Amino acid sequence: MPQIRAILGHASVETARGKRICSRHRTGKERHDIQKGQLCLVVRGVPSDLNYCVDSARDVLEKAESDLISLRGLIEGGRPAA
Ligand SMILES: [Zn+2]
Repeated sequence: MPQIRAILGHASVETARGKRICSRHRTGKERHDIQKGQLCLVVRGVPSDLNYCVDSARDVLEKAESDLISLRGLIEGGRPAA
């Protein structure tokens, strides 16, 4: 039986070992950094990684869950998105 590939391997939760920029709140009046010792959601990417504070991570993961449910629905329904 072929192994099932993990397709979300680029996403992880880490404890910041130093100050990181919150990718969702990098500008504007809610601008803030992720401080050393705080949890953050990290999405490894090119050219750079994205880091999200806990509040942002909840929204990002909720969106990802919704997207996964949609993808599953399309697969189960046997039709592409467009
Ligand atoms: Zn944030």
